[in-house]
Amino acid sequence: MISYDSLTGTLVTPCNPAYKEARLMWNRAIEKFPGAIVFCGTIDDIINAIKWARHNCVPFRVRNGRHNYEGYSTGNGVLVIDVSKLVGLDMDSSSVAAQGGVNNSMIYDLVSPQGYPFPGGSCPTVGVAGYAMGGGSGPMSRLLGLGCDSLEAVELVNADGQLITASREKNPKLYWALKGAGDGNFGVAVRTIFRLPKKVECVTLAALYYPNTDASAQIRFIRTWQRWLSRSDERITLQAPVYHDQAEGYAIFARGIYFGSKLQAEQALELLTNLPGCEASFKEMTIYEAIKAIEDTIPASEKFKSSGRFIGRPLRVEEIERMVNMMRNYPEGSIFTGLTLYALGGQVSKIAPQESAFFYRYSPFVVGLQSIWAEDKYAKLNTEWVQSRLNYINRVTVGSYVNFPSSDLVDYERAYWGDNAAKLRSVKQMYDPYNIFRFPQSIR
Ligand SMILES: Cc1cc2nc3c(=O)[nH]c(=O)nc-3n(C[C@H](O)[C@H](O)[C@H](O)COP(=O)(O)OP(=O)(O)OC[C@H]3O[C@@H](n4cnc5c(N)ncnc54)[C@H](O)[C@@H]3O)c2cc1C
Repeated sequence: MISYDSLTGTLVTPCNPAYKEARLMWNRAIEKFPGAIVFCGTIDDIINAIKWARHNCVPFRVRNGRHNYEGYSTGNGVLVIDVSKLVGLDMDSSSVAAQGGVNNSMIYDLVSPQGYPFPGGSCPTVGVAGYAMGGGSGPMSRLLGLGCDSLEAVELVNADGQLITASREKNPKLYWALKGAGDGNFGVAVRTIFRLPKKVECVTLAALYYPNTDASAQIRFIRTWQRWLSRSDERITLQAPVYHDQAEGYAIFARGIYFGSKLQAEQALELLTNLPGCEASFKEMTIYEAIKAIEDTIPASEKFKSSGRFIGRPLRVEEIERMVNMMRNYPEGSIFTGLTLYALGGQVSKIAPQESAFFYRYSPFVVGLQSIWAEDKYAKLNTEWVQSRLNYINRVTVGSYVNFPSSDLVDYERAYWGDNAAKLRSVKQMYDPYNIFRFPQSIR
């Protein structure tokens, strides 16, 4: 019997009533049963946990916001090193420093009431370290770049249980790797420091809704989206699900924050609002109000299977038709089935693919395929439905977004990091030679 005596922090084991909740992921379809979860309240707790796991030869995972699609921050029988209690935040007029347990909402609540935007994500409870170290594309990416592009430094506990800093000056190869491939691969991030963008007075929240769409309207939308994006103003980053919902039927909903006036936003989105059936809304507000309006629509949890793929060239008409038609044949038990388009480009594409681990810089957008269900009996059917359709989507796209991972990728390193995969393996060898930071799709 292993003794947990040398672990510090709050320990939760299967005998503890708190275990039932403590083991859950945001994606409730993930069913994993860790051997123990240690909630670390200090950096020493993390160091002790790593030393304990190494000493006892127990595999471990690093966890914060619990949003990994495939549950790679937990596992059966592992020690989960949970950093979500480390929520300290500091800021000045040029940067914000977040401890490893900070989430999107906590950062926005600090910086945005003062007028600062932040290149975070749209889901309030997603961990900032996990988001940014996986790249981090959100509702301001085209103007502000990815989350990782604003990352100035990361302090992390490494495989030897030492606290080190990765920045342009210190451990620069590690810094390079953490910008797009940092999640769970090299150490436990205990502090991330981001450059802050300039303050903004007022933005426009744009929402375009197309209810009751037929297949041809959904196909026309994606074709127009591609044209629009190729010449679009980088002050807007839209996210657009093209979907079937149990309550609404077939519809499209595109939303984003425009950094400018209502009039400018209306002009920037004209190509899309001119499409038949569009119900458009443009509202001027503060950046804080805009990000809160987006966050408020995200549910507390779901059961889903999803994946996100980078587009390498404009999709052909017949490819769009096939994708839309495959989605219309949705599986039994699905309450939402969608193809979601996440705009990239703008500042994201101004950085060369080799400059950070995030490789697919020139992709104009990510396409996500998703099915959500409510009853467990439909989990297998819905998961297989997504997997089988991904076989096709994978063929017409160039790579996978590691923040939207999929367990069934054959060569996942290549899929996530393209030509940067080989360099990532050499950085892994330097900083984690015994591969103790390991999970089903970690860098080998
Ligand atoms: C509802 C939802 C919305 C999302 N929206 C977006 C979005 O808009 N844009 C986007 O880019 N992504 C988005 N994601 C993906 C999300 O950014 C990634 O899953 C991110 O890695 C989640 O981090 P987490 O701490 O919440 O999750 P966890 O499951 O706790 O961790 C995810 C991964 O990061 C590692 N990790 C977490 N914290 C640390 C740390 N401190 N040090 C080292 N490794 C760590 C874990 O080991 C694991 O590999 C979304 C996911 C969900 C479920």
